Amino acid sequence: MKIAVLPGDGIGTEIVAEAIRVLDVLDLPFEMESALVGGAAYEAHGHPLPDATLKLAKDADAVLFGAVGDWKYDKLDRPLRPEQAILGLRKNLGLFANFRPAICYEQLVDASSLKPELIAGLDILIIRELTGDIYFGQPRGRRTAVDGHFPGAEEAFDTMRYSRPEVERIARVAFEAARKRSKRVTSVDKANVLETFQFWKDIVTEVGKEYPDVELDHMYVDNAAMQLVKAPKKFDVIVTGNMFGDILSDEAAMLTGSIGMLPSASLNSTNQGLYEPSHGSAPDIAGKGVANPLATILSAAMMLRFSLNQPEAADRIESAVKSVLASGLRTGDIWSEDTKRVGTREMGDAVVAAITKKTITG
Ligand code: NAD
Repeated sequence: MKIAVLPGDGIGTEIVAEAIRVLDVLDLPFEMESALVGGAAYEAHGHPLPDATLKLAKDADAVLFGAVGDWKYDKLDRPLRPEQAILGLRKNLGLFANFRPAICYEQLVDASSLKPELIAGLDILIIRELTGDIYFGQPRGRRTAVDGHFPGAEEAFDTMRYSRPEVERIARVAFEAARKRSKRVTSVDKANVLETFQFWKDIVTEVGKEYPDVELDHMYVDNAAMQLVKAPKKFDVIVTGNMFGDILSDEAAMLTGSIGMLPSASLNSTNQGLYEPSHGSAPDIAGKGVANPLATILSAAMMLRFSLNQPEAADRIESAVKSVLASGLRTGDIWSEDTKRVGTREMGDAVVAAITKKTITG
């Protein structure tokens, strides 16, 4: 099992170090190799995704990624900015399916801005199509308008598009994922206004016929945004396009109260995947040893489950995280008065200890 480890920038190096300690204690035959990515790679090699880093990622079964970015790179030309490394990896590895679970841990119910009864026990999965839609559609650019409301004025434009195979494959990913959960898929679209999303809805409906055991419903994106804050537990698996998924997955993330707790996975058609926390490089707390490593540790658990076929090891990590939370340890982002504040390293120690203890006691 080959894992490419790309810690990146800011807190990326601190949180990935803890995830590696957790993987090490599982005592599985991993081969792990690290490389620079993002701003760190730009500093050393003049590019956020050097060829050697890309090759390492391509040759691996899975990529464990920290985070990239820092405000100091905001003035660089777009292709040289750290965040381009993520786009480059998605494109080159064909990572078209993004999984973002939003789980509210019992012990963290008060961290949410929603009422506890709305989110206690929340466990939803947002599946976002990652390589198509208006983010990648051509043509795009700036020009002088020849029609519209202001002919002759300067205008900018992007193109929303999806092909049949792109929609079919993400729909299948969603139905398969739902089969392993409570067998419900909500497809989110804007079919009432957009041709692309009427097409999306028609194809998801067609694919749904192959999965008669999975219940499918459709929801417009504006309603989905409302329902996520009104009654989020109504959902199980949500599948949607790139732009709607971008927005809804961040909204769902905040339901749980802490971005420091949320893992994510991006997979291709051979289950090779990139696993990363849902948050960024947090330059405001980088180097202070206070970042929450749990999102990255939980991303490593997803990696074991989806790309490395080690579901039991994934369960061990997830139950260790739950027991550490139950013991009252918290990093600053999830701390409350009746709990004990710890730093990144102590949180990693606690997860390692919980796994080791369970191994010893069976
Ligand atoms: P961010 O997610 O890095 O931080 C937002 C807030 O959450 C900050 O206050 C930060 O301290 C806090 N936070 C984030 N992760 C935390 C953790 N594990 N533990 C405790 N607190 C945590 O978002 P931002 O500040 O908007 O962006 C910072 C940089 O990260 C930017 O350069 C941005 O482009 C980049 N970014 C990268 C990714 C990625 O690598 N996938 C994603 C988002 C943003």
